[in-house]
Amino acid sequence: MPEYVRVFGCDYDRMDDRARSLTHFIGNRCYMRIEDGRCAALTLDASAGRFLCSIYEERPDCCRALERGSGACLGELHEKRERPLLALDALRRRAGGEGGQGRAGGGAPP
Ligand code: SF4
Repeated sequence: MPEYVRVFGCDYDRMDDRARSLTHFIGNRCYMRIEDGRCAALTLDASAGRFLCSIYEERPDCCRALERGSGACLGELHEKRERPLLALDALRRRAGGEGGQGRAGGGAPP
């Protein structure tokens, strides 16, 4: 999983300082950092119950290959549509179990 999203030199150059903090090197190869099984750039919009890429305009080329609204994109949505809701439920349970109000914080990475 640490080698899930490859970041090439052109991707690295396109990213701002924040995005650079989201990558890591294995040898001389760069990848997006993975946290809790997901790309570190992925954030959860708790109010909308969906994931968002926090560096969408600067995302790596391999992410751009999956064009929004394309057949491949719609296929991914069909297969994985429930994942944000499951993550949101887990966050709410975690917050409730730790004395919170049972509500996940908006925009915080899951
Ligand atoms: S689209 Fe954004 S959140 Fe998704 S893998 Fe690429 S950089 Fe990470």
